Amino acid sequence: MNTVEVADKKFELLIENDNINKRTRLIGIQMNVDYENRCPVFIGVLNGSFLFMADLLKEIEIPCEVGFIRVSSYKGTASTGTVRETFGLPDTLKDRDVILVEDIVDTGFTLKYILEKVHLQQPASVRVCTLLYKPDAIQTQIDELEYVGFEIPNEFVVGYGLDYNGLGRNLKDIYKAIP
Ligand code: 5GP
Repeated sequence: MNTVEVADKKFELLIENDNINKRTRLIGIQMNVDYENRCPVFIGVLNGSFLFMADLLKEIEIPCEVGFIRVSSYKGTASTGTVRETFGLPDTLKDRDVILVEDIVDTGFTLKYILEKVHLQQPASVRVCTLLYKPDAIQTQIDELEYVGFEIPNEFVVGYGLDYNGLGRNLKDIYKAIP
C-alpha cells in the first residue's frame, strides 16, 4: 500500500516495515556490544514507542530491565509556555545505565525535559535511542542522542506506533502526510 487515509488526511509510504526491522536489528547489535557486561535499564516513552521498543528489545541479548514512562504536555500561560509532566519514571536510576527509547525527536523539547528528570537521579550513563529524527526541526542540542533509526524530512508522519488524531498507530509501515 503506497498511500493510506487516516481520519481526514492522506499519507504516502515513507519507510517500509522491512527496513524498520533491518535498522532495528543493527541498532540492537550495536547496543549488545556497547553494553556488554552491563545491565542497562530501557525506558520507552509512551505511547509512540511501544512497537519500536518491542522489536528493539527482541534484538537485545544482554541482561536488561525494561519500563515505560508517559509524558503529558499542555499549553500553560504565556510565562510558563508548555507545561510537561512525567508519569511512571522509576526512582531507582542512581548509578544505572539508562537507555531512553523514543519514537520520534522533533523539536527535542520533550526529550530535554525527560533527560533533566533522569539526570537528577545521577545515573551512571544516559543515552537516547530514537527511531525517527527530524534534523530540520530540532531546536535544542541533545548530547545523549546516540542511536538514530532514520533521519526524516520535517513532515508529519504516522504508523508503527505514531498517531494522527489517535489513529494509525497500528500501521506496519511509516507514512508521511501528503500536503
Ligand atoms: P518534540 O518535543 O521533540 O517536539 O516532540 C516529540 C513528540 O511530538 C513525539 O514524541 C511525538 O509524540 C510528537 N511528534 C512529533 N513529530 C511527530 C510526527 O511527525 N508525527 C507524529 N505522529 N507525532 C509527532
